[in-house]
Amino acid sequence: MAATGALGATMNYAERIARAQAEMARQGIDWLLIAPSSDLVYLMGYPAHTSERLTALATPQSGNEPFIVVPRLEAPRLAERQDLLEILDLRIWDETENPIALLAKGLGDPQGKTIAVSDQMWSGFLLKLIDALPGARFVNADLVLKGLRQIKAEDEIACMREAGRLTDEAWEEFVATTTLAGKTENEAGQILAGLMARRGLGAPAFMIVASGPGSASPHYLTSDKVIREGEAIVFDFGGNIAGYKSDITRTVHVSEPSEEFRKVYAIVDEARARTFAAIRPGLPCEEVDTVARKVITDAGYGEYFIHRVGHGLGLDVHEEPYMVGGNRAPLRPGMVFSDEPGIYLPGRFGIRIEDTVLCTETGGELLNNARRDLVVMR
Ligand code: ZN
Ligand code: ZN
Ligand code: ZN
Repeated sequence: MAATGALGATMNYAERIARAQAEMARQGIDWLLIAPSSDLVYLMGYPAHTSERLTALATPQSGNEPFIVVPRLEAPRLAERQDLLEILDLRIWDETENPIALLAKGLGDPQGKTIAVSDQMWSGFLLKLIDALPGARFVNADLVLKGLRQIKAEDEIACMREAGRLTDEAWEEFVATTTLAGKTENEAGQILAGLMARRGLGAPAFMIVASGPGSASPHYLTSDKVIREGEAIVFDFGGNIAGYKSDITRTVHVSEPSEEFRKVYAIVDEARARTFAAIRPGLPCEEVDTVARKVITDAGYGEYFIHRVGHGLGLDVHEEPYMVGGNRAPLRPGMVFSDEPGIYLPGRFGIRIEDTVLCTETGGELLNNARRDLVVMR
């Protein structure tokens, strides 16, 4: 019933599917259809790739066991997953067969049924399914999975703690051993990626190295630009443990920074610290953002903080819950999200400091603890 992930962490997929079924029963949803996506990884630990060949997990509210429709050439990957074969039925389709017909047949009489479909199922498949299932009502699978995925279980939290800790270690080694002036952004990113891979974090889930004026662009595209003296550099990166992501940002300066840079750095770090201190169950997500925004606005830089203060993190780098104005949902124990205020001065420099945090029963727990003082590199 259980698969062993990193750390000997035990992912109990049968339990996750059972929890999804309980939620389907609560909402009157008859079937849950999941295409290759992080939702599929969540429910069965299967990182299938999206392609023109249909793969779909179909879970009934109760009764028959779940089944997965898979193309013949990818079936060997599942045949070795004994834990899954105990809890779901493999329905393999051959190259000349119609997988939509196979899936529709498995769902039975569609009349009056409510079918939740993952938002990452290609519209090409969904349009054919709608035709093949007259009388059914289609809704978004987020209704079922969003609530489950945003509250991390102990096995998930263990992976995320480990991912955060190892990412911190990689960063500490990077700043202690690397010189930046004269390297390209890509070269700096590759060195950091190597330090992560060596610790078992895999290939980076993402890697932003934004230097000079580029540091003022929060989702900057890392390039072959050469890093020079006098520049700020934002490093925003993450790896993963058993699919669970880490996400950290640190901003460094090559050679002595200006007084203004030091001042703005202190404001951003203050916003980060106050945001973390405010975390507790019951606090509306939007108020997490408000705390950071108030610090930065009071310091006179409000118009330069151009994004929400945080996003949920887990199997996806950005997922629910979002710490953004308008989101009144309360924080709950088990939520993992980023605390990442920033100030971006166009054409000059940007500063962002980001930690991943966990909401516990009593407050916040930092999953990143790498040094946050202003590091001057060479
Ligand atoms: Zn981001
Ligand atoms: Zn980040
Ligand atoms: Zn982030």
